[in-house]
Amino acid sequence: MVGGEVRLRQTHSGLRDGGGIDRGALGSYTETMGLMCRVFRLAVMVCVLCLGAWPAAAQGDAHGAATARAFARLRDDPVRLLAFLAAMPKGADLHNHLDGAINAEDFVAHAVAVGLCIDVGQHAIRRPPCTKQDPPAGEALARDAGLRDAMIDALSMRGFVAVPGGETGHDHFFATFAKFHEAAADDPGALMATEARRAAAEHIAYLEIMWTPHVRSAIGLAATMRWQGDDFAADLAALGGGLRGLVARARAETDAAEARKDALLGCGTPRAQPGCGVVIRFQAYSLRTFPPAAVFAQMAFDFALAAADPRYVGVNIVAPEDDKVAVRDYTLHMRALGFFHHAYPAIKLSLHAGELAPGLVAADALRFHIRQAVEIAGASRIGHGTDVMGEQDSAGLLAEMAHGHVAVEINLTSNAQILGVQGAAHPFGSYRRAGVPVVICTDDEGVERTTLTDEYVRAAETWHLSYGELKSLSLASLRYSFLPAGEKARLEGRLDAAFRAFEERF
Ligand SMILES: [Zn+2]
Repeated sequence: MVGGEVRLRQTHSGLRDGGGIDRGALGSYTETMGLMCRVFRLAVMVCVLCLGAWPAAAQGDAHGAATARAFARLRDDPVRLLAFLAAMPKGADLHNHLDGAINAEDFVAHAVAVGLCIDVGQHAIRRPPCTKQDPPAGEALARDAGLRDAMIDALSMRGFVAVPGGETGHDHFFATFAKFHEAAADDPGALMATEARRAAAEHIAYLEIMWTPHVRSAIGLAATMRWQGDDFAADLAALGGGLRGLVARARAETDAAEARKDALLGCGTPRAQPGCGVVIRFQAYSLRTFPPAAVFAQMAFDFALAAADPRYVGVNIVAPEDDKVAVRDYTLHMRALGFFHHAYPAIKLSLHAGELAPGLVAADALRFHIRQAVEIAGASRIGHGTDVMGEQDSAGLLAEMAHGHVAVEINLTSNAQILGVQGAAHPFGSYRRAGVPVVICTDDEGVERTTLTDEYVRAAETWHLSYGELKSLSLASLRYSFLPAGEKARLEGRLDAAFRAFEERF
């Protein structure tokens, strides 16, 4: 290259100095043209060699850029924004509870279909035998024209408005679970089919659902053990052999639920519904509001189940974090989870932590929950993390999460309804600025009357996100899933293809 530059300079000087083209200059000119021709031929060869791959990538980039421009034009139009994000591929919903995902209408219909009862005073679904106060659901609904609407309001956040001195959003939200429990517990496979159908319609490839069969039996195991305090090895030994049988029963129930889901969706038949293509895995969870022995027994069961059954890809801890037992035992729970995590290092943890707001708990409880979930329990993902800016050394914690690739599952509607945290008060922007991996999830879409699409809309509107940022959130939801590497790569390939097809429309 250096020689070529010298010759070109010589040529220019010959033209300039002589006022015409002398023989020396002509010789240089010929040499230079020869060199340029060789360079040109080489460039053509390189282009020919690249021809197979380069134009497709360039086309993809062009489609992506056109999609981003189209999105920028429609972003401020809520109707078109909703339609755009409904059609956009959304990799996964990593934070959703099986029963909370179901609409109240489905629970009421199920109660009628199988003859459950309705507590007309409490607007709750009860198990038979029905009584005068708790008549059969069908009969009660036929008798009272307003009861169906009242039931839907009681089993969800529909129409809920907090009034001073009245029920809070937090209390109304958590009260729904006991009211629909009898309908939800009956047929988990049907609930999964409902979730899968909805996910397919929303272009979601993967659901990581929180569901634990026989969680009450796991709590019951604690009754047979002598709690040794925080000598966890002794506590585990005291649980005895009951765990193994319980794990076998839970796996059999998982088989049955999946078979039921597949049958409802027609999977494996010519009439297979799109929901059959949605991959579903589970997180086993413990309810944190029970006495220490009962929470510990659940954790032992969750880890044993996840170790025995690859459909359970992670472990979680659920129920109101502000509950007085949950607050009292928070550090104990994190230490117990850390103990099990050490015993089962391959099993990943996603923990509800920092689902709190100032005033809901004493200020002390706002300062350490997320940090302990990460540092003591070893969480790979944090559910909610809403109070992160109240943590001691929040900047250090955010940096630690970013450095350790600990993702945060953001549930915007849930945080607004339960905690009253929304808009500029939500730490979504703080997490992103700190480089913490962020994923958008639903939490309890049935109770909240939301969808994953709605959650993307809410994020896009509140933080003025670009198409590229929304696409990154979608890609991150698969990247930070707990799927094994091969399965994850397969779904990521599917998601890339879905984005290419989506962007080609623009
Ligand atoms: Zn949750």
